Order: sequence, then C-alpha cells, then structure tokens
Amino acid sequence: MTKRYSCDEISVLISGYLDDELSQQQQQRLFLHVQQCASCQAQLEQLQLLQQSMQQSLPREGATMREQQRIQQHLNEPKSRATRWLGWLLMAAGLTSLLGYGLYQFWQDPTVPVWMKFSFSAFWLGALVVFLSVLRQRLNERKSDRYNKVKL
Ligand SMILES: [Zn+2]
Repeated sequence: MTKRYSCDEISVLISGYLDDELSQQQQQRLFLHVQQCASCQAQLEQLQLLQQSMQQSLPREGATMREQQRIQQHLNEPKSRATRWLGWLLMAAGLTSLLGYGLYQFWQDPTVPVWMKFSFSAFWLGALVVFLSVLRQRLNERKSDRYNKVKL
C-alpha cells in the first residue's frame, strides 16, 4: 500500500480514532501519517485533550442538569395542579351562582306552571349533584395521587 493519505483524509481518521471506530489498519495509517506530519499530530493531540476535558466535565454537567430538571419538575407540578384546582373552584362557584340566580328568576316567573318549576329545579339539582360527585371523585383521586407518590 503506497497510497499517501492527505491531511483531509487523516482528519477523518482522527475523529474516527477519538470515537473508537477505527480498524487496526486505519489506526496504523493514522499513526504513520501523524509521525511524519506535524500539523496532523497537533490536531490529534488537541482533539484528544478536548475529548478528555469534555469527558471530565460532561458527566458532572449532565448530573447537574438532571438535578435541575428534577427540581424544576418538583416546582412545576404542584403549581399546575393548583391552577387546575382554581379552575375547578371558579367553575363550581360560577355554576352555583348562575344556577341560583336562574332558579330564583324561574321561581319568580308567574307564567311558569308550578309542576314545571319543580321538575326544572329537580333537573338542575340533579346536575349539581352529579357535578359535585365528580368534584369529590377528583378530590379523592388527588389524595390517592399523593399517597402513590409517597409510596414511590
Ligand atoms: Zn497531515
């Protein structure tokens, strides 16, 4: 094999070498060239140093980032839950006052027959009961959520 490798080809081999992807033969080519070529030797040494310093700093940075992410998640989760619960609360409050006002107007209306007043009231009362039971179920789920988290 008399083919001489250009520095461009060697720089490809250098990155392959750093990634531990070279065959025995390719490594030999690389070292043969590097012994005769000062600039490629400098490149190899520089990249090796760079790789070493990255390997030293990366795991630590990664750990810090994971830690930060964990803290962030911890901070975000209760907040989004509180927002959701504020939504539920506002919905409940709005629904209750609307319902109250509507029923009051409805009962004040002399043109509406009494049986209709009763059945409408019963209907809305039923809807309110369903809504409240869903709300209570959500509350229970929230409690068991917390319990599960403690268990984990
Ligand atoms: Zn070279």
